[in-house]
Amino acid sequence: MILVTGAAGFIGANFVLDWLAQSDEPVINLDKLTYAGNLQSLSSLDGDARHVFVHGDIGDRALIDRLLAEHRPRAVVNFAAESHVDRSIHGPEDFIQTNVVGTFHLLESVRAHWGTLEGEAKAAFRFLHVSTDEVYGTLKPTDPPFTENHPYEPNSPYSASKAASDHLVRAYHHTYGLPVLTTNCSNNYGPYHFPEKLIPLMIVNALAGKPLPVYGDGMQVRDWLFVKDHCSAIRRVLEAGTPGETYNVGGWNEKPNIEIVNTVCALLDEMSPRADGQGYATQITYVKDRPGHDRRYAIDATKIHRELGWKPAETFETGIRKTVRWYLDNQAWVQQVQSGEYRQWVDKQYGAK
Ligand code: NAD
Repeated sequence: MILVTGAAGFIGANFVLDWLAQSDEPVINLDKLTYAGNLQSLSSLDGDARHVFVHGDIGDRALIDRLLAEHRPRAVVNFAAESHVDRSIHGPEDFIQTNVVGTFHLLESVRAHWGTLEGEAKAAFRFLHVSTDEVYGTLKPTDPPFTENHPYEPNSPYSASKAASDHLVRAYHHTYGLPVLTTNCSNNYGPYHFPEKLIPLMIVNALAGKPLPVYGDGMQVRDWLFVKDHCSAIRRVLEAGTPGETYNVGGWNEKPNIEIVNTVCALLDEMSPRADGQGYATQITYVKDRPGHDRRYAIDATKIHRELGWKPAETFETGIRKTVRWYLDNQAWVQQVQSGEYRQWVDKQYGAK
């Protein structure tokens, strides 16, 4: 049994689907169901006893204490976070509350639980914290990619809150000996991605005939990784990572945003051409840049490859093709996420927020 937090979100849902496709070890999924949490992404597991959903907050000590005592998971994987940079600029408070204070409470519960374990169970227990390359700040075009030793220089409220949580996780290892693992991953893309992020937003807007908003000159460079490759890296780190270590995870796929948008448009032109025969790229609209927008992130994933033998299965070309195909084939999921219908369902089940 493992406890996974935030598994109704984009990466967490992919992780649980992948996990249960490869193993019968049950998963408890603790998620607050914010606007980003969507149980519809896990509807293929309806009725599957290996997936137990619990509606709650990582900052709720009493709830986490009870879950740990009752289910005695061998590991906790922490995906739960506020994750959207733009939202952190307009309203940073939720980011501090969940990413910093919430992670602190989760760590406290896990530390208390770990203290009750003995022998093999204690030695095998792991707390894996899922983090981002954005904690390292921005790179100049000629700088080498981020290694695990790069100083933390977060620039947005989102990345600062993730950096704070990484430091807490690190401190719980050094101070209390808690067997923690941290992964810092580059931008993910793939199925079940909430359509406020670049790739799904472009696909959804393109098909709806809306403008494709590109920040500034579109030359911000990101490293892109297919979400299932991130999931396999997390499984590998959980299995073989050394407690107290951090592992950078990336796809060796540095691309400027405008190239991503043009690639998405070209794939849509091929798979679902516009009725008027024009290309989707004609919908691209440049908009005012995001304040403090980091220019370039790039990950050096040598350590996880060398020490744990992990490498991505997809190239950007194969992964982006699968992603565009998935969105075309799953319009019902997109419509449900975009309409008020899903929100009303959550409010009915769990009370309006
Ligand atoms: P997401 O926003 O899609 O999902 C986050 C999930 O956490 C949602 O289901 C939400 O309901 C839940 N949640 C939020 N606050 C909570 C709380 N207080 N208690 C319990 N659940 C809560 O995010 P994502 O893109 O799936 O990212 C998951 C993790 O991976 C985050 O920690 C993020 O920082 C990290 N990460 C993301 C990327 C990326 O490209 N998306 C890259 C590297 C790292």
